[in-house]
Order: sequence, then structure tokens, then C-alpha cells
Amino acid sequence: MEIIRADHYATCFGVDRALEITNDALESETELYCYGELIHNNDVLESLERKGLHIIEDLQDLKDSSLVIRSHGVGQSVYDYCVKNNVRIIDATCPKVRRIHSIVRQHCDDGYDIIIFGNRDHPEVQGIKGWCEKGVYIYSDLNDYKNNHNYSENKTCIVFQTTYNINKHNDIKEYFYSLNNNAIIVKDTVCRATELRQEAAKRLAVECDSVLVIGGKQSSNTKKLYEICKELCDNTYWIENADGIPYDLIKNSKKIGITAGASTPLGIVEEVIVNVRTK
Ligand code: SF4
Repeated sequence: MEIIRADHYATCFGVDRALEITNDALESETELYCYGELIHNNDVLESLERKGLHIIEDLQDLKDSSLVIRSHGVGQSVYDYCVKNNVRIIDATCPKVRRIHSIVRQHCDDGYDIIIFGNRDHPEVQGIKGWCEKGVYIYSDLNDYKNNHNYSENKTCIVFQTTYNINKHNDIKEYFYSLNNNAIIVKDTVCRATELRQEAAKRLAVECDSVLVIGGKQSSNTKKLYEICKELCDNTYWIENADGIPYDLIKNSKKIGITAGASTPLGIVEEVIVNVRTK
């Protein structure tokens, strides 16, 4: 049995940075709150909680304390709340997400409508929306846009969730370029880390008999890796850690591919590989 790792996998720059910022803060803060899960990985979260991090799902009643903003970012109202309630912000928003906030904010101020392609329920998308005062529309894909968008002659700026599927992103870009409409601006906001991970996952799935995609079940980028691999290799399994390895289903595979989402630390990937090799 051969184990092949994807060329690009596991935690990205933005998640590593958020973990480092949070761990640093935990050394000096007695009580530290995080708005939503810092990282969609239960093992890492449990370890941070043991050090004093509390995950909260809404800001109600948070006063006179310190709040980590995770790499997904948040809308402006959260910053406003913190200023008003004497909450110190420890900002771990990924710079690539922060760039999207600036793009939509600036274009809103300049009178553009904003279209976000992404998962409307995802916190990153909600955070981006939170920097637009009005005229913001969210679509999951091109069909959703074509079926539901009311055409207007307004200037329009289009952005994408950073983890948006790169193939769909390219199709959408092509579609809007083909309209040849100068009032529509398409901003390339898919994260290169995501793109590299997704392309590497494709190559891996073509090459292997089975693929293990490692990452938390809440992780949207892991879900996309899973979908990409599953399309090309039917024996693709999504696991959170070594406990989920489907030994019976992969035991006859000659080549097992390994990839992991942006919330999966390398240590968890190594543990999976050791277990697959030795059991
Ligand atoms: S996937 Fe990209 S945008 Fe998202 S946190 Fe990582 S580096 Fe930042």
C-alpha cells in the first residue's frame, strides 16, 4: 500500500496566524472569548478551551473583556459593539478576508451594488455582507444568480467567498466578462491557498484508489475538498481524525491519497498516516 499526500494540504497561513494570535493572547489574558469556533477542529478547540478560551455564539452581555475575532472575520457591527461595551478586540481576521471587506466597503461607498458568491449561511459571507450598507446580494452559484437576480443598470461589484470552488469561480468570471458590461467589476477574491489545495486534491483523486479527506465536519473548505475528490474517486472518505479511518473500506487499496482542510493541523494528518500504515 502506498500513501500519497496531496501537494498542498492542511492549515493555511490565515488559520496558523489566528492560532498564533490566540495562543499569544492566552498567555496574558485571564478570560478570553472567541466569537464562533476559532477553527473547525474539535481537537484543537478542546486544547484551547483548556487554556481558557471560551467560544460564544452571540455577543449579548459581553462587556469589559477581550474578544478574538477569528480568521473568517465579522461585519462592522461587531467592532461597533466592542467599542461601545469596552470589549478589547484581538483581531485574527485573515488579511485576505480583510481585503474583501475593504473592497465591498469602498465599492458600496462609491454607489455599487455588491454580489457575493458563496454560502449565505457561512460566517465569512455574513461578515462580508456586514461591511455593505445596502444593495448586497448573495448567490450560491451562477444558476442561483440567473434565476433570482433582478437585472438593474446599477454599477455592480462581484466578490467570492475565499473558499469558493475554483471551477465555478472561473465559469462565473467568464460569464460576466462575456457580457462586456463596463458597469460590472469582478474581483478575484478566492484564496490561492484554497485554489492550490483544490487543484492538488483533483490530481490526488485521479491518481489514487481511495482518498481520505481530513477535517472538521463544520469546515466548508474541507467539504469542498471532499466533493472534488468524491467526484473523481468514489472511494473518498471524510474523516475528522485517526478515529474515523474506515480501515475495512480502504484495506484493498494500492494507493491511498491524503488531503486535509485549512483547519487541520499537520499533527492530525501525521497521526492518520501513521495509523493507516501500521494497522
Ligand atoms: S483559506 Fe485563505 S482566506 Fe481562508 S484563512 Fe486560509 S489563507 Fe485566509
